[in-house]
Amino acid sequence: MKTYGFAAIDAREPLVPFTFERRAPRANDVVMEILYSGVCHSDLHMARNDWHWTVYPLVPGHEIVGRVIEIGSEVTRYKVGDHVAVGCMVDSCLECDQCGRGEEQLCRKGNTGTYNAPDRITGDITRGGYSKHLVVREEFACRIPDGLDLSRAAPLLCAGITTYSPLRTWNVGPGSRVGVIGLGGLGHMAVKLAAAMGAEVTVLSRSSGKAEDALALGADKLLISTDAEAMEAAQSSFDLIVDTVPVKHDLDPYLPLLDVDGTLVIVGQVGPMSAFNSVPMLLGRRRVAGSPIGGIRQTQELLDFCARKNVLPDVEMIRMDQINQAFDRMERSDVRYRFVIDMASLQAA
Ligand code: NAP
Ligand code: ZN
Repeated sequence: MKTYGFAAIDAREPLVPFTFERRAPRANDVVMEILYSGVCHSDLHMARNDWHWTVYPLVPGHEIVGRVIEIGSEVTRYKVGDHVAVGCMVDSCLECDQCGRGEEQLCRKGNTGTYNAPDRITGDITRGGYSKHLVVREEFACRIPDGLDLSRAAPLLCAGITTYSPLRTWNVGPGSRVGVIGLGGLGHMAVKLAAAMGAEVTVLSRSSGKAEDALALGADKLLISTDAEAMEAAQSSFDLIVDTVPVKHDLDPYLPLLDVDGTLVIVGQVGPMSAFNSVPMLLGRRRVAGSPIGGIRQTQELLDFCARKNVLPDVEMIRMDQINQAFDRMERSDVRYRFVIDMASLQAA
């Protein structure tokens, strides 16, 4: 089927309107009309080729909410009219031990990204949610629970699951002391989710500019990461720190903040980090870890959790043709706290 969206044509130019083909639905596919698409910092990294693996033209977008408009002959989970959501993956082998455990993001053969990845059958490069339609196998679509605000749900599909997953891995619950570095898209979800799990939450931000917001989002306090005295006073006071900083950075200021056996989990920077001093790790038995998105089963669990607890991202709705300004603002950390594109604003060229 013919569809249309916005694409990056190369690393330096703004995104432009783009018409392309979606595959004809296979027996196990659903066809979605996309209603809302979240804007992740990964979209910006990928559009600018920061990770050196972008294939152009690139249609970004992996926080996708839509309505089923057609189903393949063997689809059992969804029917036309259902509201469904798709995140960062659209396929995996579904046969290995990790897929068997519902951890398709860790598929031994590699998962298939929602954009910029070769389709497992045709080899065609996948295209994401900055578009009018998506064709996806039913196993990689999640159900939007009744009552969850569709216009605010999209960021749960990446920012939400990427922070929910480590909170679950490290058993965050009442009494856990959680730090969140960087109050952006991922960071604000980490705060809301950890608070909803009963944790005591501290935001670590570069300035006091977001202090009021941090408390409103559910944090107990904000620690200014450039305030050496305050950082010193906070030593050994966290069980888990979720690090969402989107660029190469130094962990030395943060590691001493962990208590014994505490973990700093990197979810932000994808690539080289500055070297760090092992002394605080050795002496305090502290850990540095990483975590990629989350599995489909856990994404559904997150959506249900958010519907039950009324946890929703703070979004700024934009039109599709405002995407380039949104990217510029995201680069300056000028977003409170996630842009979502209203796909009704996307018209055929
Ligand atoms: P974002 O909305 O731009 O937020 C990042 C936040 O980090 C900013 O709001 C800012 O918070 C802080 N920050 C920005 N530049 C910084 C710098 N130079 N030094 C220190 N702190 C800085 O981005 P996002 O959408 O949350 O994404 C964050 C990162 O996660 C991206 O690199 C993205 O690619 C990655 N990501 C990873 C996964 C995964 O699977 N692990 C999934 C999705 C995204 P303050 O102003 O409060 O300091
Ligand atoms: Zn993302």
